[in-house]
Amino acid sequence: ELNNISSSTHIFRSKLPDIPLPNNMPLHKYCFLKLPENADRPCLIAGERSYTYGETHLATRKVAASMSKMGIQKGDAIMILLPNSPEFVFYFMAASMLGAIATTANPFYTAAEISKQLAASKAKLVVTRSAYVHKVGEKCLKVVTVDEPQDESESEVPEVDIWPEDPVALPFSSGTTGLAKGVVLTHKSMVTSVAQQMEGENPNLYLKEEDVVLCVLPLFHIFSMHSVMMCSLRAGSGILLMEKFEIKGLLEGIERHRVSVAMVVPPLVEALANNPAVEEYDLSSIRLIMSGAAPLGEQLEEVMRKRLPKAILGQGYGMTEGGPVIGMCLGFAKYPYRTKRGSCGSVVRNAEMKVIDTESGNSVGRKEAGEICIRGPQIMKGYLNDEKATKGAIDTEGWLHTGDIGYVDEDDEIFLIDRLKELIKYKGFQVPPAELEHLLITHPSISDAAVVPQNHHSAGQLPVAFVVASQSHLTEQAVKDFIAKQVVFYKRLHKVYFVNAIPKSPTGKILRKELRAKLASNDIE
Ligand code: ATP
Ligand code: MG
Repeated sequence: ELNNISSSTHIFRSKLPDIPLPNNMPLHKYCFLKLPENADRPCLIAGERSYTYGETHLATRKVAASMSKMGIQKGDAIMILLPNSPEFVFYFMAASMLGAIATTANPFYTAAEISKQLAASKAKLVVTRSAYVHKVGEKCLKVVTVDEPQDESESEVPEVDIWPEDPVALPFSSGTTGLAKGVVLTHKSMVTSVAQQMEGENPNLYLKEEDVVLCVLPLFHIFSMHSVMMCSLRAGSGILLMEKFEIKGLLEGIERHRVSVAMVVPPLVEALANNPAVEEYDLSSIRLIMSGAAPLGEQLEEVMRKRLPKAILGQGYGMTEGGPVIGMCLGFAKYPYRTKRGSCGSVVRNAEMKVIDTESGNSVGRKEAGEICIRGPQIMKGYLNDEKATKGAIDTEGWLHTGDIGYVDEDDEIFLIDRLKELIKYKGFQVPPAELEHLLITHPSISDAAVVPQNHHSAGQLPVAFVVASQSHLTEQAVKDFIAKQVVFYKRLHKVYFVNAIPKSPTGKILRKELRAKLASNDIE
């Protein structure tokens, strides 16, 4: 082994054994695998409307029949431009039934953003509400508004041959670091990724039929699409659909529907942990809280735990290209493992992970930081119409390079440090902005913060902070001193700008590119 040390690769695997994957099945079939036994169990709950599993499946078949009548065939793309709603689920699964591909977009996007995604995806049909129709510019395109119920016969769903390598979903990455990229996900990748969570004697993410899963994160984003919609359907759980995040409505919904599983992002954890309104509601039904999509501060994790001590709190780590799940908290397993604060989970089963040195590309061992890479049948087929970008992301050995810097510890837990692209380079040193942000928000007078690089002639880049102060007397110097006391000299803040809010994506990711642009244009007080 010693002779081999330079050429050998350190590979990390799940503690859970590999399992046979049912990934030769089309996605819709896999998601409704519990039918007909669970036909009468609750599936979708949305305001005053609710659908059992049987009704959901029937509605999906009717939608498939109607889309088929409109000419949608295998290989065609449709755009779903809807908030969280039963129709989102029907159309998504109906597209799968027809062998079509659903590309999902934020209904709050501008007409220009939507038009770009329509052009890239070549969608033949847009499914939306009448309120958003004006945003769909293309005249030749077919548009369905779901405000009025359709009545088609479910018996007219055509028989379609679907292969594991056929694409089924075309979500777009969040566009946090650059332009959003279209990500081609096949039936095989999606079924694999759901199975990695749901199958086996000890499922990594154990959801029960009695569970009610909170669906407040937007379904057009891969996190909710996968971990809320697909995983809940497969498990036969109920899904509480909420169109938007508003704290009172959210708390009322949790209490009234006895939500037991909360899939959330850090700003939502923040609200649940700190908002005074929380005291007025009974949230004792929550048994599991999974946070993902963006870094969760350890202090926030602590406060959340104190608020709901009986719930298991942990993180999932994913990216659109990853199919999406890369790491999942083993505390969510049927027979759970102990996990540590700050961990983003452990690599999913039936997959391999390695961490590579960003300079040499060689894999490194435990507790050594580098770029996280993942390999397995769940990862994307590639970027839409972009072979070059695909080759840049998935190497010839099949490893997906995540662009995330982190390490795997002695217990196989993943800890993320920051994104490669976001690291600030001060002289020769690397400063991870996420680390400084976590420190900043531990200050009692800071409610939110973001750190970005400011270009500098001799240092290259300097870390500067945007801070939302909860108390008006907070000074720039006080913030700088607070950080300086806690970090090595090169991580000190060079400037602090006070702002009213930190720009974030719908899944709670800090849009540092907007702040960088603000700095570059000198558009700051
Ligand atoms: P783009 O690739 O277009 O710049 P994006 O990477 O934000 O946008 P997504 O695919 O939605 O688009 O997000 C994946 C990224 O989210 C991961 O690469 C990682 O940086 C971050 N992420 C996901 N889960 C976590 C987590 N639990 N903790 C910290 N970061 C996370
Ligand atoms: Mg990305």
